[in-house]
Amino acid sequence: VQHQGGNGVCFYTPEMALAASRRTLLTMHLAHAVQRNELNVVFQPIIEAKSGRVAGAEALLRWSHTNLGAVSPAEFIPIAEDSGLIVSITDWVLEAVADQVDRWHGEGVQCGRVFMNVSGQQFLRGRLTTRLAELMKEKPHLAGLIGIEITEQAAVRDLKATVQAISELASISVETAIDDFGTGYSSLSYVQQLPITKLKIDRMFVDGVPHNRKNSALVRAVVGMAHGLGLTVVAEGVETLAQRDFLTDVGCDLLQGYLFSQPVPPKTLVILIGDQPDS
Ligand code: C2E
Ligand code: CA
Ligand code: CA
Ligand code: CA
Repeated sequence: VQHQGGNGVCFYTPEMALAASRRTLLTMHLAHAVQRNELNVVFQPIIEAKSGRVAGAEALLRWSHTNLGAVSPAEFIPIAEDSGLIVSITDWVLEAVADQVDRWHGEGVQCGRVFMNVSGQQFLRGRLTTRLAELMKEKPHLAGLIGIEITEQAAVRDLKATVQAISELASISVETAIDDFGTGYSSLSYVQQLPITKLKIDRMFVDGVPHNRKNSALVRAVVGMAHGLGLTVVAEGVETLAQRDFLTDVGCDLLQGYLFSQPVPPKTLVILIGDQPDS
């Protein structure tokens, strides 16, 4: 197949055709995922660096289709965003997270704050805040137990609207954290205009520490500046003891990664919380 583009001829390779048809297929199936009960949420603990204790968790979405098997969120979330399906999917995630946190509260499980991921376009539409406000009214004990992660890129796209949304959420005690910090080509001077209290240093930077001198210097500088601005710092993707030790030394407040735990089903998270020293 040949197509006359704006700046010349573009050839569609068989690989491109295949990718396009997979996308179409996934979009089609994703449209039924909620109704067919194919989604579930797993939880990755967030660890307090100083004590090693579970301070909270991140909720991560999983999709398992009967024939396609498990599809990675890295693949289906962009498809959900482009197709608009992200709206109903985010609604589903919010209910699933709130239900789980509510259940844990009832069982006396000290899960700490549970953060869910929200796409940029979703965050600025009022819907999420409205539903969260409703939930907090219905279940006041959820106050302080729910948080939202938005990416740095999404946050700085419309700074004024983002400030407004974060403030509204803060007023109903929903904390907003900046995700993937360092990948958005913005800076702390930009981010500090947001009324946030927490930022998550992207795995890309954590990968290199402590051996890569540039990454190490960057992480150290980000933690220093973030603390100067009164922000709590989470390091993502912590896989080794050497990384944990370095990150703790430079003052990262919270750590998250395979070293502590993969994202796990609710029951496993409860076991992890229960197995901690003096709890
Ligand atoms: P993210 O928000 O940056 O989430 C962190 C990702 O890193 C997760 O991948 C997690 O499983 C993985 N991870 C955690 N610790 C480690 C580690 O030590 N090493 C390595 N190599 N990876 C680690 P996951 O679950 O596949 O999610 C990928 C992305 O999909 C997320 O990146 C997030 O952007 C998006 N996503 C996941 N769930 C949702 C959701 O409910 N809504 C939205 N909008 N996006 C979601
Ligand atoms: Ca995240
Ligand atoms: Ca992240
Ligand atoms: Ca990410």
